[in-house]
Amino acid sequence: MGKVSIMSKLLVVLCLSGEAFCQSDDFDFYYFVQQWPGAYCDAKGRTCCFPNTGKPSTDFSIHGLWPNNDDGSYPSNCDSSNPFDESQVEELESRLETDWPSLACPSVGPKFWAHEWNKHGTCSSFSSQKDYFQASLELKDKTDLLQALKDADIIPNDEFYNVEDMKEAIKEKIGFYPWIECNHDSDGNSQLYEVYVCIDANGRDFIRCPVLPRGNCASRVQFPKF
Ligand code: 5GP
Ligand code: 5GP
Repeated sequence: MGKVSIMSKLLVVLCLSGEAFCQSDDFDFYYFVQQWPGAYCDAKGRTCCFPNTGKPSTDFSIHGLWPNNDDGSYPSNCDSSNPFDESQVEELESRLETDWPSLACPSVGPKFWAHEWNKHGTCSSFSSQKDYFQASLELKDKTDLLQALKDADIIPNDEFYNVEDMKEAIKEKIGFYPWIECNHDSDGNSQLYEVYVCIDANGRDFIRCPVLPRGNCASRVQFPKF
């Protein structure tokens, strides 16, 4: 038996004996990214459309769970033979509608989930589409961003807040600093748009972010109503 064959047999045995060995090592951690619908919808030059289930609740919603490397690079579109298949997430669909709505126009419905699965989910460590979406929903519950901010008296009331205070409030809840991305409204105000938190390669636990995306927030930013 050749060396390669022995190695692959060993890998199979390790995989069967414990999930940890089976993790893909094609990436190092995840960004779990949530968007503030108020900032998506009133961004300069953009319109937004509500899903056919109506206006989403006044809460952060999921943008995606993205495999990433410590050097800032990331894999994408890793498996074209396993495209998004709505029937695999049927049981989660009502929660996905609530917690992972698309606000793009014209209303794209499940296409947003399809885009996220095909681009990012296929590079993840989850063995099924259902597991990937389920884990993302659990991470949203665990992060509970709106409550974390509320606990520090930071609320979506069109007022301006220090970005650093927002980060502290979230760290208070999850133990690690998040990253905050901003966009601009039509008056040119910098506003809270997306919150990135870092998750270990199992897709379950918060970690300190190994690398941060580029930032574009002013030091004080608006938290728009929605
Ligand atoms: P944007 O250019 O709008 O920031 O990002 C466009 C898209 O590229 C994102 O929605 C996401 O799919 C991907 N992307 C941007 N930055 C990152 C990153 O740092 N890590 C990963 N994994 N994906 C990213
Ligand atoms: P990314 O590659 O940036 O993760 O994926 C964003 C893609 O999903 C874009 O093509 C964008 O038009 C589409 N999309 C659909 N609905 C939404 C939404 O509610 N928020 C964001 N950020 N992108 C959305």
